Amino acid sequence: MENSEDRGTKRLVPVPSGVAYRIDSLSTNGLVTEQLAEELRRVLDRFAREAGFADERPVGVFFKPGIFGHHKVGRAADIYAVGGIGLDQWKARWNRAVEAGTPRGDGREDAELQKERQQNLGWRLYRAIQHYGRWSQPYGYPIQLFGPWTRSEGPWKFISDRLLHAHRDHIHVAK
Ligand SMILES: [Zn+2]
Repeated sequence: MENSEDRGTKRLVPVPSGVAYRIDSLSTNGLVTEQLAEELRRVLDRFAREAGFADERPVGVFFKPGIFGHHKVGRAADIYAVGGIGLDQWKARWNRAVEAGTPRGDGREDAELQKERQQNLGWRLYRAIQHYGRWSQPYGYPIQLFGPWTRSEGPWKFISDRLLHAHRDHIHVAK
C-alpha cells in the first residue's frame, strides 16, 4: 500500500499560542505534526478558558523537547510547566491537598480538596488533556498519555513505577 500516512515526511510545526494560553517555551521545544499541534491547541484553549484565563490574561504553557519513540517523528509533546510552575510542583501541592483532605466526617476536608480542584492548574491541565483530547493508542499499548496523575486519574491506571517515575515532572502525549 502506498504510504500517504508516512509520518516521516510530514511537516513539523510549533504548537501555536492560543486565545487564552500562550506558549512560554522556544518554538523548537515543541515541534510536532500539524495534527498534534491542532489537537493541543484545541485542548489547551479549552483548558485555559475553563480555568478562567482569557486573551488579556493568558496562562503560560512550557514544552521541552523529547527524544524517544513518538518524539522522533513529531508525534509526541512533553509539557513541563503551566502557569509558570512545574508539573512536579503542582503534583506535590496536589498530594498535600489530598492528604489533608482525607475525610474525617465533618465535610471540611472536602471543601479544601474542592478548592484545590479549582486552583491546581497542573491537575486541571492533565484532566483536560485526558478528557478533551484524542491521543494515539498503538495496538496492544495503552493510550499515549502519561504524567504525574496517570495512576490516580488514568487512562492507564496500571502504569508501572518506572514509567510513572519517568513522567513525574511532565505530561507526555502522542497523536
Ligand atoms: Zn515524551
